[in-house]
Amino acid sequence: MAVQRTFSIIKPDATKRNLTGKVNAMIEDAGLRIVGQRRVHLSEAQAKRFYEVHAERPFYGDLVNFMTSGPVVVQVLEGENAIAAYRDVMGATNPSEAKPGTIRAAFAESIDANTVHGSDAPETAAEEIAQFFTDDQIVG
Ligand code: ATP
Ligand code: MG
Repeated sequence: MAVQRTFSIIKPDATKRNLTGKVNAMIEDAGLRIVGQRRVHLSEAQAKRFYEVHAERPFYGDLVNFMTSGPVVVQVLEGENAIAAYRDVMGATNPSEAKPGTIRAAFAESIDANTVHGSDAPETAAEEIAQFFTDDQIVG
């Protein structure tokens, strides 16, 4: 295993319910370090670009509307095998399928309002981190 970085978003449903600290406690308890962090209200252009891979999917418009509906916290996480480790603690996309003890099982309201985003591969992690952070904004 190697030390990796992954990209995380705490989504608007979580910031609205004041859950940033509780979500990050679960992230830190999973052994991941938050090495970059910023609170931002995504523009429509930023959200569309971020989820461009889903542009042809029927839920794309709703996804963009949701991600721009309130503030989010964008983060870089670092740790052993961070991409998979973070996805494990996030839980399944649909909270009804998320295992107990995961962030989405604890907090997600629906498949749209599912509390967190996490990168799914090393290439997407690097690309997503670069959309929101410069190297000097990441302090490990
Ligand atoms: P994310 O990319 O946000 O971390 P994910 O990797 O678990 O989530 P993706 O398949 O990449 O899931 O989907 C991106 C987001 O699009 C999901 O988090 C969810 O909010 C939304 N989404 C995915 N599938 C559906 C669906 N069938 N219906 C409605 N929304 C969906
Ligand atoms: Mg995804």
